[in-house]
Amino acid sequence: MINQRNPLFPKRSLGQNFLINPNVVRRIIASCDLNKAETVLEIGPGKGALTRYLSQGAFKVIAIEKDDQLAMQLKQAFKNTNVEIIHADVLKYPFDKLPNNIKVVGNLPYNIATPIIEKTLNHRRKFHAFYMTVQLEYGQRIAAQPNSKRYGSLSCFVQYHADAKILFKIKNSAFHPAPKVQSCFLKLEFLKIPRHAAKEEDLLFKIIRACFGQRRKTVENALSTLMDKERAKALLLESGINPKLRAENICLEKYVQLSDKI
Ligand code: SAM
Repeated sequence: MINQRNPLFPKRSLGQNFLINPNVVRRIIASCDLNKAETVLEIGPGKGALTRYLSQGAFKVIAIEKDDQLAMQLKQAFKNTNVEIIHADVLKYPFDKLPNNIKVVGNLPYNIATPIIEKTLNHRRKFHAFYMTVQLEYGQRIAAQPNSKRYGSLSCFVQYHADAKILFKIKNSAFHPAPKVQSCFLKLEFLKIPRHAAKEEDLLFKIIRACFGQRRKTVENALSTLMDKERAKALLLESGINPKLRAENICLEKYVQLSDKI
């Protein structure tokens, strides 16, 4: 592992908030349910706070780091071990090159958490679970259930493909530099097939975005950006949805039923 006192100045542009609390590191590793037969993809190993322990618990670790200096130091530190350091931007790296059935772990650069999650979900056949550190409020939005303020199109998109659960909260003092907000450790368990599969996924997410785009309006009004109000009302009733509800009151299963009717 790279010396944690390494004089490199953390780069905000790369979302560098390094884990410095060994108890939190232990808790993260214990929650990842590692086994000696599996390969782990680590996103943003940084100074290797998690990498060393991941390598002890897994068969192999593939770690993708964008920062030039850190990647060079990691390559040196993990030479001749079961850790392969890839110096690349995770958003550009072709995931098709990765082996199948792997687990993803990362204390994510918060500024690009959404594109990383989207990319991972788009390649979900490669992965079975994704354990990540994200901002608490963001993790709560991902794991939110209907009838809550945080439930939105992000919750629906992620939960269509995965079961989401916040495993524990993390205080900002666990990182250097300390971010302004609290964090959490979130687990996504990828579903082999969605629990409620839509006939046309693009249409499903278009409808969900339209409804949450105007979340204060009733869904019959929010949907009128896509169709006339009478048709929206009829389709909602046919799908067993009260047209006077708001987007946050409708569960994913009902959105699927609605999109299948259109
Ligand atoms: N895993 C380390 C830890 O827990 O201390 C570092 C976590 S830090 C929040 C995020 C890491 O992701 C940094 O090392 C940063 O350089 C790296 N990173 C940022 N953007 C990246 C990208 N597009 N591709 C790969 N790594 C990236």
